[in-house]
Amino acid sequence: MPAIMEKGTIKTLTTHYIDGAFIESHGRQVMDIIKPTNGQAIARVTLGDEEDTRRAIAAAKSAFASFSRTSKEERLLYLRQLHKSVFDHVDDLTAVMIEEYGGVAQFARLIVESGINAFAAAEKGLQELPLTQSWGKTTVTLEPVGVAALITAWNANALFICLKLASAVAAGCTVVLKPSEMSPLQTRTMVDAVNAAGLPKGVFNVVTGLGSVVGAELVRNPDVAKISFTGSVAVGQQIMRDGAATMKRVTLELGGKSPTILLDDAALDKAIPSALTLAFMNSGQACAAGTRLLVPKSRLEEVKRALRDAMRAFTVGDPADPNVMVGPMVSQKQYERVESYIHKGIEEGAEVLVGGEGHPKGLEAGYYVKPTVFANVTNDMTIAQEEIFGPVLSLIAYDSEDEAIRIANDSKYGLHSAVLGTDLQRARRVASQLRAGRVVINNMTDDPQAPWGGFKYSGVGREYGRYGIEAFLDAKAILE
Ligand code: NAD
Repeated sequence: MPAIMEKGTIKTLTTHYIDGAFIESHGRQVMDIIKPTNGQAIARVTLGDEEDTRRAIAAAKSAFASFSRTSKEERLLYLRQLHKSVFDHVDDLTAVMIEEYGGVAQFARLIVESGINAFAAAEKGLQELPLTQSWGKTTVTLEPVGVAALITAWNANALFICLKLASAVAAGCTVVLKPSEMSPLQTRTMVDAVNAAGLPKGVFNVVTGLGSVVGAELVRNPDVAKISFTGSVAVGQQIMRDGAATMKRVTLELGGKSPTILLDDAALDKAIPSALTLAFMNSGQACAAGTRLLVPKSRLEEVKRALRDAMRAFTVGDPADPNVMVGPMVSQKQYERVESYIHKGIEEGAEVLVGGEGHPKGLEAGYYVKPTVFANVTNDMTIAQEEIFGPVLSLIAYDSEDEAIRIANDSKYGLHSAVLGTDLQRARRVASQLRAGRVVINNMTDDPQAPWGGFKYSGVGREYGRYGIEAFLDAKAILE
């Protein structure tokens, strides 16, 4: 039976990917997948249960016995095969991200490409990582930790799967992936790609289902050694708490409320587009989104004018349109969440510079919100402290460089930050004082060898390149 069936225009998925095969779900609960641009059902998915999860864990456990003993060269070959087969699916992965999630075309492709790059980065990271080191009569080896559960969010499905799978395979771990229940079509396309890479059976297993069912079983099961999680703080905390019972190693990639510091020597023709890209990338549904723009009081009015002008180019609409910058929110729930924060901002006295409450005109059918810029925000307001996960930017004025740094760091989060300015020495000095896992200077940029992860409530551990691989390894010493 094919894994995706078309019934009229509704696709049906009833299988999980276990031990190299598509297996009919034991779980019977069914969930509709809703297209964010029009609120119509596009797919019906049968969700996995604890039994499906245990089968997947058993397959991963069995495969671990031999996969954990593969050589570095064998794993490098698997990473190259994965890179090639996911690369071959780049168009399909981009198209399904636009359809199922509402990701805007220009950003969706970047997300998929950074997922593909993760395999190349892991290859380089593994080449450089000494898995065995000896001195005197001591030998230290880095050993794969065991079966790893990969639990992911819905906002960049392809990237999260590639990133976590690349690190796990490089380390010699076998995996059970539980993607967001809102991403089954994207996941299915990714499974096709991974399936073509020729990994040994049982190395990569996938169970689609709810966090409270499939996720909870992965966290509690003693045969799972490691959880690599991307999602919310609340669920991250629960995983850490519940995982302690079976001494799980955890990597937690959680939320953010990232500051962008615009220094007083910034050239606005470059700085404003950078600030808006940071704030509204992935329609604002990005953990790294630079949602607090810190502006020197001396340039506040000028910045407000420049923002108003630049926002005219920030078109909202059909994510398939290559000119559109902001698409719909992923779901009705997410739409309501973002609207409630816009409402709260107005209630707390912030000034609506652009946008505001309600659907943009003509886009009432989908989960579209108005990209919104608030001025007159103080850092203690709810919209400056809580993660909104939508296209809402808050302008916060500061007097001095020291005050900008203090405001930037006055957050429970510490995932990402940006500094925009002309004097690079000064920008670097400011960057060095920010409490965040990553700081970009003058533009949103990426380096797949650089670590990704958060300070404070933004998480525990790092991903990407060598740092990501180390998170799936334990050190073992043999002393003669
Ligand atoms: P979420 O925490 O609701 O869900 C994430 C995943 O956890 C889903 O697969 C879900 O099914 C699963 N889950 C839920 N309850 C669980 C449980 N009890 N046990 C195990 N698994 C469970 O998050 P979301 O709404 O999907 O994603 C949005 C959040 O993710 C935001 O806070 C965002 O900042 C964060 N995020 C972080 C990064 C990063 O790299 N730091 C990247 C993207 C998103």
